[in-house]
Amino acid sequence: MKILVLNSGSSSQKACFYEVAADTPPTRPPAPLWEGRIEWTGDKASMSVKTCQGSVQKEGLKLSSRKDFVQHLLHTLDVGPVRALTSLSDIDVVGHRVVHGGAHFEEPVIVTPEVRSAIASVSTLAPLHIRAELEGMEIIDNLLGPVPQVAVFDTGSHRQMPLYAQTYPGPYDWFAKGIRRYGFHGINHEYCAARAAQLVGKEPRSLKKEPRSLKIVSCHLGNGCSVAAIQDGRSIDTTMGFTPLEGLAMGTRSGSVDPGILIYLMREGKLGHEQIDQVLNHESGLLGISGVSSDMRDILAAMKQGVARAKLAFDIFVHRLRNAIGGMAAALGGLDVLVFTAGVGENSAEMRAATCEQLEFLGLTLDPALNERPILDCDIATKDSPARILVIRAEEDWAIATECWKLTASSLTSPDQ
Ligand code: ADP
Repeated sequence: MKILVLNSGSSSQKACFYEVAADTPPTRPPAPLWEGRIEWTGDKASMSVKTCQGSVQKEGLKLSSRKDFVQHLLHTLDVGPVRALTSLSDIDVVGHRVVHGGAHFEEPVIVTPEVRSAIASVSTLAPLHIRAELEGMEIIDNLLGPVPQVAVFDTGSHRQMPLYAQTYPGPYDWFAKGIRRYGFHGINHEYCAARAAQLVGKEPRSLKKEPRSLKIVSCHLGNGCSVAAIQDGRSIDTTMGFTPLEGLAMGTRSGSVDPGILIYLMREGKLGHEQIDQVLNHESGLLGISGVSSDMRDILAAMKQGVARAKLAFDIFVHRLRNAIGGMAAALGGLDVLVFTAGVGENSAEMRAATCEQLEFLGLTLDPALNERPILDCDIATKDSPARILVIRAEEDWAIATECWKLTASSLTSPDQ
């Protein structure tokens, strides 16, 4: 079964292509057969595509529209040096990451005209992303005709959070107006929880529980960062809320700040909503504090050179992360597994060590040697640590491909086909 996964941003398009057996449920994530990315500003784009055999195609392009950019990227699937298919029409199903499902969507769905309208109806919650995702679906209509398309929602796995975790303590009618805590990174948090249960299930020496009943705190630390509390495979609380701005300090985003600061800036600094958006989303976090970079690698390098503001940025990042882990453990009433995932979570031993340093009271004891060893999907807690600490590679695209398989594989293998 040939599955294409699209992850559409406002000025970027990522895509992955997998082939899996239609009659056997997929288990461990394979490397995608083809993986492409295109980013553009104005009419100029840079494209980079690679295959699992190691072929690479890189190009600078001048094209006129998002549609042109994305079509150009997808045509490298069946033409040229990184070709992975005889024809685009061989694709069986296309999965889309949809950043916001609003209050409508929890589970992945087959895209129908009604589903598109429902996604469009929540577009004010994430206008740039949702426009790009709906355009992605139209591009597939044009290129592939009536192939099944599946929408998987980044907010979906948080939809079952208890009402008290979904509701802001503002006026009661905010909730009815859609101003509520949605949470994000749900596709990867849910994937990591399932993978954590798989990994811990194989190591019963320190945890005797059924994998399903594990209390998991998942830390997705990339450019955007969030922590989720997961019980019985479902999110019961998370740090991002109405938008991906709430919660932890991030690369360029502030995370939670006193809302009184915004009132003060509007009143005293005469800042409008666009300037506040710019400050909180693009000029804060690691970048805003350090003045060096939003990239944790640069922060760590600057710290080694004694740059005090880089050290402060790192300390704020870790302090807020520790507080969030403690809060999520409280929401769960305990903690069996802590997961680190995404760019910073997978790669920064310094950040993991600093975070876990103060968390021994939660039963988390890091093994310093294992923490330094860059193996993914592994346990880095000491043998006698009461709770496990796992590093799990973020696999959003594979998680989406798996949902495509679940929704469409039976129709491909049924005898009527
Ligand atoms: P996104 O949220 O855009 O999907 P990623 O999950 O790929 O991002 O994470 C990107 C971030 O990961 C980079 O900005 C950088 O801060 C961090 N990162 C990547 N490699 C390392 C590393 N070796 N050490 C520390 N941080 C890293």
